[in-house]
Amino acid sequence: MAKVSIVGGGLAGCDAAWQLARAGHEVILFEMKPDKRSEAHTEDGLAELVCSNSFRATGPAAAIGLLKEEMRALGSLVMEAAYATQVPAGGALAVDRTLFSEYITAKLESHPRVTVIRKEITSLDAGELAGNDAVVIAAGPLASQELTESIMAAVGDERLYFYDAIAPIISRDSVNFDKAFWGSRWKPEDDDYLNCPMSEEEYKAFVAALLEGEKVKPRDFEKEVHFEACLPVEAMAERGEMTLAFGPLKPVGFVDPKTGERPFAIVQLRTENKDKTAFNLVGFQTKLKYPEQKRIFRMIPGLENAEFLRLGSIHRNTYVNAPEVLDESLQLRARPGFYLAGQITGVEGYLESAACGLWVGLSLARRFDDLSLKNPPRETALGALLGHLADKPDKAFQPSNVNFGLMPGLEKKMKKKFRKEAYGQRAQEAFRVWLEQVDLTN
Ligand code: FAD
Repeated sequence: MAKVSIVGGGLAGCDAAWQLARAGHEVILFEMKPDKRSEAHTEDGLAELVCSNSFRATGPAAAIGLLKEEMRALGSLVMEAAYATQVPAGGALAVDRTLFSEYITAKLESHPRVTVIRKEITSLDAGELAGNDAVVIAAGPLASQELTESIMAAVGDERLYFYDAIAPIISRDSVNFDKAFWGSRWKPEDDDYLNCPMSEEEYKAFVAALLEGEKVKPRDFEKEVHFEACLPVEAMAERGEMTLAFGPLKPVGFVDPKTGERPFAIVQLRTENKDKTAFNLVGFQTKLKYPEQKRIFRMIPGLENAEFLRLGSIHRNTYVNAPEVLDESLQLRARPGFYLAGQITGVEGYLESAACGLWVGLSLARRFDDLSLKNPPRETALGALLGHLADKPDKAFQPSNVNFGLMPGLEKKMKKKFRKEAYGQRAQEAFRVWLEQVDLTN
């Protein structure tokens, strides 16, 4: 029987603890509440949902729906609790947050191999963490300051971030190629970029919509700090009507092949994955509310029917540059024996965090039992999410929720309405085959 300490009794920490304990290992779970709380946590229980009570869509036509199925198949405590405390929410899975947290707290506190200790861990070198076979840090996006500083000292301060500025990602198949064209500035043959040309009238209407669009109000602890390099697109628009046209939307170096002329402004989309099935809107990090993003960004010529794989956001978030600082098993390269799990790795979202914790717990348990466990293939939701943490991006590493853009593209071209289903069926089959191969029953 191995002994593992887990720091953080949130979504990731609880699913990691559950996997290890059910496999016969001893777990010490450190949770700093109630003595100390992050700015967003208010309750005493484990696995607190700090904002929405929704775990988003169900069913295989959504990547998050697939992730739910895979987590259930792997024995996730978070999924078990979610279905046990479900409240009606149409096609989504939503829970009674109090019952959800109580369910998980009771399961872990009553487990004979789990000890929950209410204490803040302030350093990777803390005495409490000594003498373990492994340590899992699952302290979340608002990890306490001293622990964050200790992680930063281990990984290097340029590899740990406190703020997220994310631009929306769009599925390539939803782009209208009657208007959009390929090429980068001065390089029309470059197929890493797509461009949406705007006339003066379209540009001015777009800027006006950005100014009027409803924005998310920052929470008290999210000071409105914006770095010049990642200003929200609407904040740039506020600086003047032409600021965007001279900034990220400048048309210099482009000729619209349809008109043979330089457009008034250009919205650039940069490829997001190897298969070029997903593109991000360059310079479009934003605090617009989600429905507003869809409404306003669909005003961009060529994006009238855009399918958003991820929407933009800017918020406080502690996460590492996973491809650089973590190995395949999510172990800190700089500190063997120390693993990260949850949002702090660079996944984004309740279930993604829980899935990440589940994976770290499960793979550690297998290793302790001298059993191998290869990663699920990239065609699956979990495999796609883990792939995101492993692949070194061309640009800066950014957190991601699970979405079809993280999976390999489909081999056959097909209409949008069939695509999601095809991704879903392929993922289910790939997961089934993987599960059979890895045989978790022994
Ligand atoms: P957490 O669930 O935050 O768990 C970390 C735990 O570690 C906490 O209980 C904390 O008290 C404890 N801890 C921290 N430091 C220490 C320490 N040094 N010693 C001991 N314990 C410690 N995602 C969604 O899908 N939907 C949403 O609506 C949503 N809203 C969010 C709102 C906010 C304000 C934030 C910050 C994030 C939100 N997220 C949301 C993103 C993310 O999914 C959640 O934060 C999720 O809870 C992350 O899971 P986790 O297990 O990684 O961290």
